[in-house]
Amino acid sequence: MKAAIFTKGQLVVTDAPKPVPKSEEALIRMTSAGVCHSDIHFIRGDWSTREYPMPIPMGHEGIGVVEDVGPGAESFIKVGDRVILGLGGTGGGYWCGACEYCLSGRPMLCPQAKGINGAYAEYISVWAKGLVKLPPEVPDSEVSLACGGLTAYGAVRKVFDFGVLPNKPIAVVGAAGGLGHYAVQIAKAFGYKVLGVDVGSDKVEFIKTVGADWAVDAGEAEGFALQKFGGVYASLIFSSRIAGFQLGMKLIRRGGLYICIGMPALSEGGISITPLELLIRSPLMMPSAVATVEDMRSVVALAVDGRIKTHVSRYLKLSEIHQTLEDLACGKISGRAVINDLSH
Ligand SMILES: [Zn+2]
Ligand SMILES: [Zn+2]
Repeated sequence: MKAAIFTKGQLVVTDAPKPVPKSEEALIRMTSAGVCHSDIHFIRGDWSTREYPMPIPMGHEGIGVVEDVGPGAESFIKVGDRVILGLGGTGGGYWCGACEYCLSGRPMLCPQAKGINGAYAEYISVWAKGLVKLPPEVPDSEVSLACGGLTAYGAVRKVFDFGVLPNKPIAVVGAAGGLGHYAVQIAKAFGYKVLGVDVGSDKVEFIKTVGADWAVDAGEAEGFALQKFGGVYASLIFSSRIAGFQLGMKLIRRGGLYICIGMPALSEGGISITPLELLIRSPLMMPSAVATVEDMRSVVALAVDGRIKTHVSRYLKLSEIHQTLEDLACGKISGRAVINDLSH
């Protein structure tokens, strides 16, 4: 089968053996795979100074059909089921279900958690409990719900879980991006008023089309948020640049939520705030990464109801992955790019 594999510092599209499902695994014939911005950071080594053991199969957003099951997997999934890889890149490959993290709804922190890698391939074998069945109303073009949509959902859910009531204004920084455009739609579905922020007039126009109540350029966002609302109740920061994180802090009112989702390269440095500013602003700060398999079911339900829709700005074949990653890195792609042919 064809697969995109990261080896010796390069991403290569090559022939690889078709996997055989192990215990509790399902073999999936992939019909579509989403291109996630985190792949670029990973390939460039933006997030780590250490070497990963190579080779690494790439891709963690997928939709496909179960073709075979390993021993024990039949309790969770059947041959012929159409599925979405239910937990993106982090923790979807396995979690123990019995540790303090799993039992408190944070399986990603489970010491035994494994990610999903290898969706850029004709076949992938994955742990069946991480899969979510997909009804026919949700087409293959919605594949990026698997990581992008789920991660955006997890972040918006925190806004609600930490006490911000519907109808309050919140900001989505990086709102035109792959994750941000989902967050705007999900925040609207939760009933929030949404200020979408991004850089450049094209992106600001795009944010309006996904349902934001207000869309402004990053350069005007601080003045707008302070004048209009006295600061927003929460900033959700999806930016891949540290400047977006600095801006997000300035948008919130005192005691607001500061939720970090984007992961800029380590070379961008850290978030800077003085202890005095921290005291004055008193933000509640937290990271957010993916969510749970149950959240994935909620995301699928939102898609069935038409409350969330992926903006796909490019379809490609697997062999065209390099150019797409380059264009994504330069900010040339709004929304998501989707591989709809994994055999060429
Ligand atoms: Zn991802
Ligand atoms: Zn666990």
